[in-house]
Amino acid sequence: MKKLILLSTIFILSIGCACKKSTVSALDIPKYMNSITAEELKTHLSIVASDEMEGRDTGTKGQKKAGNYLISQYKANKIPFPKGATNYYQNIPAAFLNAKRNENLNDSENIWAYIEGSEKPNEILVISAHYDHVGIKDGKIYNGADDDGSGTVALLEIAQAFAKAKKEGHGPKRSILFLHMTGEEHGLHGSRYYSENPLFPLANTVADINIDMIGRRDEAHANSNNYVYIIGSDYLSSDLYKICEEANQKYVHLNLDYKYNDRNDPNRFYYRSDHYNFAKNGIPSVFLFNGTHADYHKPTDKVEKIEFEALAKRAQLAFTTAWELANRESRPVIDKDGK
Ligand SMILES: [Zn+2]
Repeated sequence: MKKLILLSTIFILSIGCACKKSTVSALDIPKYMNSITAEELKTHLSIVASDEMEGRDTGTKGQKKAGNYLISQYKANKIPFPKGATNYYQNIPAAFLNAKRNENLNDSENIWAYIEGSEKPNEILVISAHYDHVGIKDGKIYNGADDDGSGTVALLEIAQAFAKAKKEGHGPKRSILFLHMTGEEHGLHGSRYYSENPLFPLANTVADINIDMIGRRDEAHANSNNYVYIIGSDYLSSDLYKICEEANQKYVHLNLDYKYNDRNDPNRFYYRSDHYNFAKNGIPSVFLFNGTHADYHKPTDKVEKIEFEALAKRAQLAFTTAWELANRESRPVIDKDGK
């Protein structure tokens, strides 16, 4: 109990300091956080995880169609592609995608959008989610509404919230790169490609918040969807752990479940989504996840099974965590060895 009170006091003090140095106020956070709504998430997901996208397998027509939708949303919100890029795509050649597992994938693309920081534009916060899924098998479309349609649309809403804040004079101090990864289901290829071909130096990349499956609940939480698993936040940085905790305590009030943060957990989720390609390069990374369920990697992972209020709250936690990372005075300290 004492620890919790201490942490929230520190948080209030640190926000107080930030107020003096810029126009960004803690009072603004709920306003923008609440622009992330269950309704808008549902609108986006009903398109991204529709049959028309044919399960979004890497390099397929369906995936490209889903990618076009994402880009149309960034354009509608006037969120540009990043500085130094020529469009919203990071092209990944088939040779790279197929090298590891000897597969037969076509060329594919990560998709990126960018909000430039006002005070430390060269320091980059990455928020990531993969938009590929496993396609069509035996004539059945695997819509991947939770995996990872949920993270994909969360990213759209988080970007929109930051864009709204910027428009009203409360833009982030650091730059934010929104990265929709391809090739995750085939072996984290998109994030590996980005980490080997980063648009911004990895040394300037302050953290990655990765979102993969946040629209459902697992068996262990059958009685309540008011939770999210937090994985990896304390592996490299005690700051990142504290920032997630405080952002949650102050604004979102989910139960943060650290079960899968245990390095000995046999599921090894820490190694199984895109943040790992940042973490292995020493970048503090946190993975938000709802756990698996009966529809995981089944054609029944459909939009109608998504719990949109829970999805919104988890996306709001990613947003409030990102807000602090993008606006606090110093980047999160690296004081752990990741092991
Ligand atoms: Zn996934």
